[in-house]
Amino acid sequence: MSLFTAVEMAPRDPILGLNEQFAADTNPNKVNLGVGVYFDDNGKLPLLQCVQAAEKTMMSAPTARGYLPIDGIVAYDNAVKALVFGADSEPVASGRVATVQAIGGTGGLKIGADFLKKVSPNAKVLISDPSWENHRALFTNAGFEVDTYAYYDAEKRGVNFEGFLASLNAAAAGTIVVLHACCHNPTGYDITAAQWDQVIAAVKAKGLTPFLDMAYQGFGHGIAEDGAVIGKFVAAGLTFFVSTSFSKSFSLYGERVGGLSVLCKDKEEAGRVLSQLKIVIRTNYSNPPIHGGAVVAAVLGNPELRALWEKELAEMRVRIKAMRQKLVDGLKAAGVKQDMSFITTQIGMFSYSGLSKDQMVRLRNEFGVYGTDTGRMCVAALNSKNIDYVCQAIAKVV
Ligand code: PMP
Repeated sequence: MSLFTAVEMAPRDPILGLNEQFAADTNPNKVNLGVGVYFDDNGKLPLLQCVQAAEKTMMSAPTARGYLPIDGIVAYDNAVKALVFGADSEPVASGRVATVQAIGGTGGLKIGADFLKKVSPNAKVLISDPSWENHRALFTNAGFEVDTYAYYDAEKRGVNFEGFLASLNAAAAGTIVVLHACCHNPTGYDITAAQWDQVIAAVKAKGLTPFLDMAYQGFGHGIAEDGAVIGKFVAAGLTFFVSTSFSKSFSLYGERVGGLSVLCKDKEEAGRVLSQLKIVIRTNYSNPPIHGGAVVAAVLGNPELRALWEKELAEMRVRIKAMRQKLVDGLKAAGVKQDMSFITTQIGMFSYSGLSKDQMVRLRNEFGVYGTDTGRMCVAALNSKNIDYVCQAIAKVV
């Protein structure tokens, strides 16, 4: 008998489990389209030039590693605010945004969830159906009841927008709604600017609490274009949460660089909110690590490096779009009869391919092509060397 005798084995994380299976696969042609990571055309995880340049400068004048403030590097937090809300925006100028450095986008969501549990303990949380796997688990573990709002329409291959609005209109006041700011994960379907206006109107009319998850800023249409949705929420006079991740946009996955911003009514309120966010951080991990935040702050704070980052991010964005087109063309050439052009109407890293679980299992077992059972494929892992093989494999299972 031990303290842990009754401890049950937890299920494996579906995506990380897929990675393990991929690593063990001996098929020389295997392709991993499971995990949401951007690879370059050589199938390599990029180390961005802007990151290398910033690190070189940092290494030429090494500094001692004291504790950071609880809310992180000041220059970093300011850079996040400027990126999310706009450097010259009213919320930044008036000081009514409370921003903290976080351990990745996940950390930003978690700090927000724990804070919300204190201020709105009985609220329900709505996430999209489907959503990033961790949204449900994270808000459930923070103590919330989590439900979904309608989002994906499999038949239409797009967003069930009427259902989405109906879900919002049926929600009780105070309900926390987790929204994908851009590049919806897992479907790849975003709503239009005009539809955002309707969502915002519903959120406002019903008194819901928006929590925007911005894990892919710059992977959709551009940094400012993807951030425009934030401006819409500001213009509507709402207060809301935004989590930020630099995992993908800086290819800094393992450095765990992210943030949480809370737009408050005024500067005084932002000060009180910030003090509470700091309590959440202090009692979880005390203060964030230095390196990733310092790199991002150095890049965003230096005009030349910032321009280089924008160029490198644009290259990633453009390459993904090119791969979408190649996938559509390649599937046609491989003999797939059904119209697959919907893949180019999707945006960001992922494509909901519409393939069934059986088809995804066959892709994996017979061809070593790994996507999730839901049919999600990471388009950002396709390249000029593996695309033909993937297209032929898909053609054989559909
Ligand atoms: N939100 C969404 C929608 C994501 O796809 C991800 C990353 N897969 C995250 C948040 C978390 O990002 P991070 O790795 O920076 O914690």
